[in-house]
Amino acid sequence: MKLILLGAPGAGKGTVAKLLTKMDGSVQISTGDILRGAVAAGTELGKQAEAAMKAGDLVSDDLIMGIMEERLQQDDCKAGYLLDGFPRTIPQAEALKVLLDKMGEKLDCAVEIDVPRDVILDRLTTRRTCTQCGEIYNVKSNPPKVEGVCDKCGGPVVQRDDETEEAISNRLNVYNEQTAPLVGFYKNEGLLLSVKATSSDAVIDAIKEKLGQ
Ligand code: ADP
Ligand code: ZN
Repeated sequence: MKLILLGAPGAGKGTVAKLLTKMDGSVQISTGDILRGAVAAGTELGKQAEAAMKAGDLVSDDLIMGIMEERLQQDDCKAGYLLDGFPRTIPQAEALKVLLDKMGEKLDCAVEIDVPRDVILDRLTTRRTCTQCGEIYNVKSNPPKVEGVCDKCGGPVVQRDDETEEAISNRLNVYNEQTAPLVGFYKNEGLLLSVKATSSDAVIDAIKEKLGQ
């Protein structure tokens, strides 16, 4: 399947994407994970993205489109992909449309995961992330077995730099201003599936129903 996952930070895009990869071998492509990897590795891309990310602002559309053009042409994408955190702006959505047309590919749908703001805030302040493999934990509902150590890869599990209260509030504002308009964009394209749900399983069920699986 070829899906876009839309939703505020903390809506559960990453969790849903990971569950979907187990269904049919589609790959999860998270621009946030790619960028965090680049920052950790100290690459040129990482240096260009670091300051915006730390503040909870968006990285430039040009930088993101450069990453995604390359990524979507890799072999593992032939099995399908779940775009998590991309597109994030109308220009990115338009550029993606042109790119997919050029590649002769079509999206199955764009899923909006709609979660109330209070739930989002609670999740983001209690969220912890493995810096090595990107696995997501929650100090209240899903802590790693050993505090600070990833169950999967043994890497360090920490609170992200952009998960301070100030950066979180900025990320939510940025989402409302720049990313929320994508819901209308994909509605116009006839691709929108909007799911009001706080459980990932409910989101997965809605997607399966929509795709007739
Ligand atoms: P979230 O958990 O807030 O959805 P992500 O892991 O998707 O966060 O992204 C973290 C940060 O990486 C964003 O706040 C932004 O700075 C940058 N970023 C990720 N994807 C994009 C994108 N498509 N366009 C611009 N910036 C992005
Ligand atoms: Zn890990």
